[in-house]
Amino acid sequence: MAKGSATPTTARRRAIAVALPTYVPHRFLRLLAAIPKIARRRQRQRSLIAASPSFRPPLRTSEKPRCGIQSRTPSPTGEVEAPPKPKRPEAEQPPHEEPAAAAAAGKYWTHRHSLFSLYDRGVRMDAEGWYSATPEAIAAAQAARASPAGLVVDAFAGVGGNSIQPLRSPGNPVAGISVSCRGCYVIAVEIDPRKVELARHNARIYGVEDMIEFVVGDFFRLAPSLKADLVFLSPPWGGPSYSQTPIYTLDMLKPKDGYTLFQAAQKIAGNIIMFLPRNVDINQVEELSWLCSPPLDFESEENYVQHRFRGITAYFGNAAW
Ligand code: ADP
Repeated sequence: MAKGSATPTTARRRAIAVALPTYVPHRFLRLLAAIPKIARRRQRQRSLIAASPSFRPPLRTSEKPRCGIQSRTPSPTGEVEAPPKPKRPEAEQPPHEEPAAAAAAGKYWTHRHSLFSLYDRGVRMDAEGWYSATPEAIAAAQAARASPAGLVVDAFAGVGGNSIQPLRSPGNPVAGISVSCRGCYVIAVEIDPRKVELARHNARIYGVEDMIEFVVGDFFRLAPSLKADLVFLSPPWGGPSYSQTPIYTLDMLKPKDGYTLFQAAQKIAGNIIMFLPRNVDINQVEELSWLCSPPLDFESEENYVQHRFRGITAYFGNAAW
């Protein structure tokens, strides 16, 4: 028998049909699509860390487990207890903030110095303040229209971003400690007493506390009893969802529409500044100046911070240049 008469073995290939669960390709494709995004985010954070040693990555509002498997311990009653939430490292907490405000900081945390340049000296915010405070550069540009030695009413003062600016020394925009060569005085009206406390604290940090009279109350009730040279209005826009509408109309302002608001302000002064969403119907805003006879001078300005379109300021009366 010939050696090796065995026929050369040929590997037999058989096609095996594997039934994949339908969600697997979707998950896989989603993962593939996310890879460049994750890489870009890491790259951006690395370059920010390189550019500024004090940079801290933005806080996440919730820390989710990365994979689905979690060990759960049954409690004595038989119920499954939720696993303890992983604690964010101390270094990532915004300093001097209450826990709710710190959690709300989220993506706004990286903008903290554009909201308050003296943030690191102990400025305090609340959850709403993080998304609604007027960026400092915009507040300063608006404040430049206040006449020296004038009386300004800040109708919706929030955590104080706009009340502080008319009182800062224009020659010392960064330090902010040597104050008020302008001689203004501000009446800051705010309905929420907790915000008034934060605004007072922030004014102290900027060294202008003594030049602001804080009033806790409803602007619409107080307006008939106030008189001033200029009224500043940064009314609630209705939260971050304002930007989702293509055209923001004045009846969307809270707690009352723009016309009622403007008429209340007119009782205080003929010079009015309004800070409004970037998608506001500007024709409607201009029409407000016709509520007066003769019509008030009007000017509008688009406000950008770091090339981002943040809002529109409308100037009426002498505040319009
Ligand atoms: P949004 O984020 O929707 O723009 P804001 O937080 O900017 O709203 O609102 C501005 C401030 O106006 C808030 O601090 C709020 O407490 C205050 N406020 C709301 N209604 C009144 C009112 N009637 N009188 C005085 N202050 C008010």
